Amino acid sequence: MPLPPPPNDGTAMLAGDALDGQVALVTGGGTGLGRAIAVELARAGCAVGIVSRDAQHRAAGITAVEAVGGRCAEAECDVRDADQIKAAFDQIEAALGPVTILVNNAAANFPVLAQDTSPNAWRAVNSIVVDGTFFCSKELHARVVREGGSGSIINIVATQAFTGGPGMAHASAAKAAVINMTKSLAVEWAPDGVRVNAIAPGLFPHEEMREDLAALRTQGPNVDATRSPAGRLGERREIGWAVTWLASPFASFITGHTLVVDGANWLRRDFVMPPFTPVAEQLSAVLRKAE
Ligand code: NAP
Repeated sequence: MPLPPPPNDGTAMLAGDALDGQVALVTGGGTGLGRAIAVELARAGCAVGIVSRDAQHRAAGITAVEAVGGRCAEAECDVRDADQIKAAFDQIEAALGPVTILVNNAAANFPVLAQDTSPNAWRAVNSIVVDGTFFCSKELHARVVREGGSGSIINIVATQAFTGGPGMAHASAAKAAVINMTKSLAVEWAPDGVRVNAIAPGLFPHEEMREDLAALRTQGPNVDATRSPAGRLGERREIGWAVTWLASPFASFITGHTLVVDGANWLRRDFVMPPFTPVAEQLSAVLRKAE
């Protein structure tokens, strides 16, 4: 019997008032995991600000949060730009009040061989993930210090940060940098009442996932389930619950930690590994498609 499925969609993990009075800013909160995170924070009583570049994405996030009775606001922002981040925090605070929880979820990723990665592609991915996470975190810290309260930052990373990510060297390096940053900031900012943690999701397919990523990583739920020790894939709400718990007072002694939510998939090693296929061959189908 593999790992059991999670509680049903709509189940609140914490009491509905556990995060009352808190305001969370979720970058990339309009799609995929970010939207699930926004919804679960709202279910625990948190007001949620959704920050990203695309108005339609943000609108989808707002609809989802409002559907569970949450208070929310949105702001346009490219997280590569520190001035836009400041303006987005101002906009969310004007609508909802001081931000106390930051979820650095925005990211970009696509399969590409290291030798074919252009300087632009390398910089774009690293800038969104590393610069964006750092600039947003600095902004949250400055505001919490100014208000005199406490705050929590949760960085969404990936298990490729531990293993390397052949075929995705840009995104893997960026996520590894964020785990390192999580540890530095946790120590620097604990005296200021700001906790900094990370969550490394395993495979959480969703309808908005890029086609090339989905094609690489999933072969449909029945096949995918047999390829993980857990016997199943992740459900997005499971990341939402993990974020909600880490943001809550129940985790107030936890900082500098990276929580893996992947059913042990990244630890898997068979005694005898399958024959090695060069990465260029593994990616050939999706790379051809991208041309
Ligand atoms: P996704 O749907 O592609 O979401 C990425 C989000 O980031 C989008 O909402 C996008 O919004 C936002 N974004 C991208 N560039 C931005 C920028 N420059 N400024 C502001 N926002 C930006 O991806 P996902 O699958 O939900 O992944 C969410 C997080 O989980 C990511 O950090 C990812 O690395 C991590 N993760 C996911 C999985 C998985 O299986 N899904 C596995 C491991 C890790 P706009 O387009 O509106 O800007």
